[in-house]
Amino acid sequence: MDSHTVLYGVIGDPIRHSKSPIMLNRAFRETGINGAYGAFHVTPERLGEAISGIRALGFRGLNVTIPHKIEVMGHLDEIDESARAIGAVNTIVNEGGRLIGFNTDGIGYVRSLKEEAEPDLAGKRIVVVGCGGAARGIVWALAKENPGEIVLVNRTAERARELAASFGSKTISALDWERLREACEDADVVINTTSVGMSPNVDAVPLDPDWLRPGAVASDLIYNPLTTAFLKRAADRGCRVHGGLGMFVYQGAYAFEYWTGRPAPAEAMRAAVLESFGESVSSPLTR
Ligand code: NAP
Repeated sequence: MDSHTVLYGVIGDPIRHSKSPIMLNRAFRETGINGAYGAFHVTPERLGEAISGIRALGFRGLNVTIPHKIEVMGHLDEIDESARAIGAVNTIVNEGGRLIGFNTDGIGYVRSLKEEAEPDLAGKRIVVVGCGGAARGIVWALAKENPGEIVLVNRTAERARELAASFGSKTISALDWERLREACEDADVVINTTSVGMSPNVDAVPLDPDWLRPGAVASDLIYNPLTTAFLKRAADRGCRVHGGLGMFVYQGAYAFEYWTGRPAPAEAMRAAVLESFGESVSSPLTR
């Protein structure tokens, strides 16, 4: 670092388990950009002060994680279409003093899915299991790929119906939990967005992987563990599997690209996170 170093960071509460500094600092090193990225513990009552600090200190970019993704929107000058549609911001770009909010979670997930498992989602039948905070961005980004159908299935059926209705699209519908099996039997891609199977409950599965067609894609947002029981059993059945690490890497890659205008070194970023897992693979992970 010197007096030209451009500053970046992530705010959240808690934040000490975040892998983002390791991943983004590797990206700056790899591309020779004079940037530095830190993790900042910001409690909800100090969010406004933290954002004022970003403005005053001239940070170029910030990631925002739980619990600030929604509240932070009230402190920004502009909200990009991605974040407006999703209702949450995870990336802020400081454009000469104007703070602009983006959401790279959904597009990060879809880029990872396309690069790692299914390059062409057009016409595909996609089942999204779970309708919590992460699902909305994913469905929004999947819908842009012209899929044949996106079926939302959630334990609390009302949430799936509400999410489907909010898109107002004939392609996106909700199905009751009792009909998950038939939805999976027909699907090209089945995505687990529930927290079932996350460490420490690593033996739990959100649905019976035997319901999936061999050759279909089984995808899981969870990346702790890197390969969930759902993915292991789906692979045994002959499915193509896709884990959650890619989503984490690519949401950071998009943030890097928005901030610097340069292509992100995604493989080096992934390697940095994997190396850090070597020390603490079962610790809780947040951005
Ligand atoms: P969330 O808002 O708390 O939503 C949790 C979802 O899981 C809800 O749909 C909930 O259903 C469902 N669920 C929980 N327990 C269940 C059970 N026993 N059976 C069936 N459904 C159950 O969480 P989120 O923020 O969306 O995160 C979901 C998962 O994605 C987490 O594991 C998180 O780590 C992961 N994630 C990964 C990334 C990444 O970068 N890879 C990013 C974000 C999130 P109800 O509505 O019925 O409660």
